[in-house]
Amino acid sequence: MAKLILLVVVFTAAWWLLKGYVRSLREDAPPATRSEDMVRCASCGVHLPRSEGLLRGGRTFCSEEHARSEG
Ligand SMILES: [Zn+2]
Repeated sequence: MAKLILLVVVFTAAWWLLKGYVRSLREDAPPATRSEDMVRCASCGVHLPRSEGLLRGGRTFCSEEHARSEG
């Protein structure tokens, strides 16, 4: 009987440790960044989301006009 109680205690402790371990994993995981990378227009210096920027020759611009003016 004592062995059965020990088994239950061990299982409870293992479960408790596993729960703590899983929680620590979740806390260590970096929060999902929904904000986009911001890039800077090489011409006027305005900041804009990367998806909205125009990439020309390795540099990012805010508009076609600025991309053209900078070559
Ligand atoms: Zn610009």
